[in-house]
Amino acid sequence: MMTGTEYIESLRQLKTEIYAFGEKITNFVDHPLFRPHINAAAVTYDMAHEPEFEDLITVKSHLTGKKISRFTHIHQSSEDLVKKIKMLRMIAQRTGTCFQRCVGFDGLNALYTTTYEMDQALGTNYHTRFVEFLKYVQENDLMSAGSMTDPKGDRGLRPSQQADPDMYVHVVKRTDEGIVIRGAKAHQTGIVNSHYMIIMPTVALGEADRDYAVACAVPVDAPGVFHIFGRQTNDERRLEGEIDTGNARYAVVGGEALTVLEDVFVPWDKVFMCGENQYAGMLVERFACYHRQNYGGCKCGVSDVIIGATTAMAEYNGVAKASHIKDKITEMVHLSETMYCCSIACSAEGGKTPSGAYFVNPLLANVLKQNVTRHIYEICRLAHDIAGGFIATLPSEKDFKDAKTGPYLEKYFRGVSDVPTEYRVRMARLVENMTGGTALAESMHGAGSPQAQRVMIMRQSNMEHKKRLARRLAGIPEQD
Ligand code: SF4
Ligand code: FE
Repeated sequence: MMTGTEYIESLRQLKTEIYAFGEKITNFVDHPLFRPHINAAAVTYDMAHEPEFEDLITVKSHLTGKKISRFTHIHQSSEDLVKKIKMLRMIAQRTGTCFQRCVGFDGLNALYTTTYEMDQALGTNYHTRFVEFLKYVQENDLMSAGSMTDPKGDRGLRPSQQADPDMYVHVVKRTDEGIVIRGAKAHQTGIVNSHYMIIMPTVALGEADRDYAVACAVPVDAPGVFHIFGRQTNDERRLEGEIDTGNARYAVVGGEALTVLEDVFVPWDKVFMCGENQYAGMLVERFACYHRQNYGGCKCGVSDVIIGATTAMAEYNGVAKASHIKDKITEMVHLSETMYCCSIACSAEGGKTPSGAYFVNPLLANVLKQNVTRHIYEICRLAHDIAGGFIATLPSEKDFKDAKTGPYLEKYFRGVSDVPTEYRVRMARLVENMTGGTALAESMHGAGSPQAQRVMIMRQSNMEHKKRLARRLAGIPEQD
């Protein structure tokens, strides 16, 4: 298994083509726009070597028997699913942000289970191919990006009905050696600092959409692949200094890109679905549920930091003993632990798939993610309430260091007398960083938008059973 430093060095070996702020980036590894995201992902490698976390972050491969990172593991029990959540919470407590590696982790598990069932039904050999790729990922401790979301164009039209056929990734050519794909993947968390992208379809597909039913593994620096990096709230502050970023080492959220696939060749041994449109829906659903499962892990770890920062702000402001402050902080803990409960529940209630790998309880995973779209906003609202309006009006780090203005800011931004002004400013910037803009939108739309969860909640709700329960008690005879 790699250390964080070895992971960062491995990125230097790649020829990843990245554009940001209208420029081609030549050394992304040391660039202040990207380095915080890289540092956050590196924590998943470093913590695997810390004895305290060994049981959570490392595991024995069911394929080779070797010790591997859990991020490359296929869940062999519901206990594995529970450990995943505990691991995500621990890592998020350290980074205070998204560490990106779970998306590819979920893609691996979704493909493992789906290719098995596809081969059983259709006589294809995708699972065998996939297992070989998985062994390579485990052996080399690679980070993969889960590349599902297509740009989607007109949301009212199917992929094959779009005016521009590239709105969903599709196969444009098949040869004896492999396939050629074209299109783009949007909102790609952590992709610029991954090794591979795991491409999957983004919606259930019909017969007419067969060319869009494609799953495969592509190196992030393969010919024809390039990445256009997305902006985040206050990202330019990273280019200026440290304090104003709030979390200089690890940034805001994952670091997303639009990844363009301009006629990319993929050899057959890296192709795991090609034309089997009837299995696209299963793959999408498996991936979505595995990823929704995570949010009571990582977001709860992030909330642990927000709650700690908010409590510190109350102390620095001299209001920690006020009963309404205590009550609001209690509410923050309640909301956060509710998300954690849901993650543990959907994991503990997971079941075995035909491949032997374990899958989460899909109803509970979707309920969890729906809660996250609300609870994180409420946690952040309470953090703003308690921290105070100055988190939105603070002058810059440069003004605090300026000979003329610095002493005045030092004097007038002080709270309680025994806490240095700088601590109060640093904590305020951390709250600002973790509770606004990009971080909030990620909680809403990451792992799928709220309506996607509501569709699955209703589908999984077993409404006929509920109606039968009611009819029985009401004394109404069974109907057809
Ligand atoms: Fe992992 Fe959470 Fe980031 Fe998704 S949002 S990649 S689950 S840390
Ligand atoms: Fe996410």
